[in-house]
Amino acid sequence: MKYIGAHVSASGGVENAPLNAHKIGATAFALFTKNQKQWSAPPLSEASISKFKANCKDKGYNPCQILPHDSYLINLGHPDAEGLKKSRIAFVDEMQRCEQLGLDRLNFHPGSHLKEISEDDCLQRIAESINIALQESKGVTAVIENTAGQGTNMGYRFEHLRRIIDLVDDKARVGVCIDTCHAFTSGYDLRTFEAFQNTFNHFDEVVGFNYLRGIHLNDSKKDLSSRVDRHDNLGLGFIGNDLFGFIMADPRFDNMPLILETPVEEKWPEEINMLKALVK
Ligand SMILES: [Zn+2]
Ligand SMILES: [Zn+2]
Repeated sequence: MKYIGAHVSASGGVENAPLNAHKIGATAFALFTKNQKQWSAPPLSEASISKFKANCKDKGYNPCQILPHDSYLINLGHPDAEGLKKSRIAFVDEMQRCEQLGLDRLNFHPGSHLKEISEDDCLQRIAESINIALQESKGVTAVIENTAGQGTNMGYRFEHLRRIIDLVDDKARVGVCIDTCHAFTSGYDLRTFEAFQNTFNHFDEVVGFNYLRGIHLNDSKKDLSSRVDRHDNLGLGFIGNDLFGFIMADPRFDNMPLILETPVEEKWPEEINMLKALVK
């Protein structure tokens, strides 16, 4: 099965996310389980948790169709002790919120070296942060997202994802999410069938499809290898529409959340319909 959706709003409470997803015809969704621009948030209430679970059941969303995303403030590879500690505490909280909601995965950007430590030192810190979070939570997989490589963000090579996975103790609870915009602007071409096959065969060799837990479906406002993270609606950017047809026709992307993070939300129902029609 192909599960297709978007990163929907959870404003007013996490229980609203499945309702918002259902309204746009989505069979998958992403959400923030707390305000993504703040460090701390009040704990999820029992009422909110049970409504979330009831709404997911009612609208037919299972954990394998849901890809929560953590706060943008968290840097699991932070060079400073204080920043690292703060990030690790916040990340454990995010993992525990997912656990409370009955979800099985949490998507996050790996981290940034801020020009203060080496890239590999940063990757080692990220892996250690994941090890800590896995010890402090149960049943939730840490899903590392590839990045555009903007600024000092790590995760712009498949080899970075591999290096982190190699250093994680519990391989059963680490996975990856590939963002098509980030892959493209970090240098992986996806515009033709040949380029798509080359990129994902390379991904399979370096990381492995067995670690893939979700896809972010975005076109890009910036060109190949620009290392800039600017999403565009499908077919309007430098990648073009063909890629999304290749993904929809490929069984390697079955049974995981395929999530739009495109900027014009009004187009989501139309984009979801278009993607559903491309499934063979
Ligand atoms: Zn993304
Ligand atoms: Zn992005």
